[in-house]
Amino acid sequence: MTGDPKVWNARRPCPQCGAVSVQTVHKGRYVLPTDHPLDPVVHVVACAGCGFCFNDTPNAREDYDRYYRDISKYADPRLSSGSGAVVEDRERLRDTASDIRDFAGGTDQRILDIGCGAGGLLDSLAEFGFRSLSGMDPAPACAAAVSERGHRGVVGTLDNHPLDPGAFDGVILSHVLEHVRDVPAALASVARLLTPQGWLYVEVPDAARYGECLIAPFQDFNLEHINHFSAATLHNALNACGWETVRNGSKTLPLPHGRRYPAIFAFSRPAGSLAALQDLGTRDALGAYVALSAEFMQRIDQRLQQSVAGQRVVVWGVGQLTMRLLGESTLGDADIAVFVDSNPVHHGRTLAGRPIVAPHALASHVDADTPIVIGSLVNLESIEASIRNHGLCNPIIRLVAMESA
Ligand SMILES: [Zn+2]
Repeated sequence: MTGDPKVWNARRPCPQCGAVSVQTVHKGRYVLPTDHPLDPVVHVVACAGCGFCFNDTPNAREDYDRYYRDISKYADPRLSSGSGAVVEDRERLRDTASDIRDFAGGTDQRILDIGCGAGGLLDSLAEFGFRSLSGMDPAPACAAAVSERGHRGVVGTLDNHPLDPGAFDGVILSHVLEHVRDVPAALASVARLLTPQGWLYVEVPDAARYGECLIAPFQDFNLEHINHFSAATLHNALNACGWETVRNGSKTLPLPHGRRYPAIFAFSRPAGSLAALQDLGTRDALGAYVALSAEFMQRIDQRLQQSVAGQRVVVWGVGQLTMRLLGESTLGDADIAVFVDSNPVHHGRTLAGRPIVAPHALASHVDADTPIVIGSLVNLESIEASIRNHGLCNPIIRLVAMESA
């Protein structure tokens, strides 16, 4: 980060130290579908006191609860990562389960996976011999999927659930804590669920390495990832809430098509309050990430200027990238006939005033000459195959040139 950015007061206190004095790291704008409970502005800030980086947001915990229950992709077990349905996902879940087996010290331990999605990690733990496995998720479809797989599926959130205090020997928060608005309250809720000797496994994206695994511009500065942990700040956040880190490390998660994702993890036990350290490295790393993302965004925008100007188009996919391109690129001014998305939670909603329809319904909205802009930078081959499999022969516009796709 260059210069000395202005210090101002955030609406959301620092999740790590509670201070409100912050400096802006990045501000982005989304266009969101109707009935979306979250604010469209993503404002990433660094705490002026401890250096922790997080999204300042006007949204309350209830808004996020509603989002994850009703709108999020995780509500559909077929679409949630962590289902173990793809080979790379299974590989990463098996690695995590293996680490947990080595740490836990006995397969008789009662383990709860909070934010379990469709239960892929629980399946991997079962393969290692664990028998008392529970998964909790705000989405009823996920809890049902977990039960179908032979584990205990529970509908609930960290502050609203039917579980008994002290019921578990181990709790897993894998790719959950970066989504949580009130980190100290979440960690206190976890502590209540554990036995006095219990352990917590936390895994989150590594904000200090976002730039190493850039797939789409600003992909990690989104509506869902509102805490940007580094190894130092994860350690700090756990310490500040009375958790001692017993073992920690970093990993690079495999994703389909050779993509990778940076993550850090920690095994912790309750230990009373410990001193937190200041961390300025994450803020600087995120400054570099912003520059990389902005340059990427500019390349996409130039391509959109050439390809969508003066003609009617369809946009395929209403994920985070599409919503951000509507807010910050030429796509926001384009003549969009209709949006298409396969996830049924979107159908019947509108985005930027246009309907979101299922793939099979597209042919009744536009003719076969109307180009389809693919609002994604990943899985392009399978998206194009899906378009053709729906009998659509419309021209296709990618956000990046074929050779660099
Ligand atoms: Zn702070």
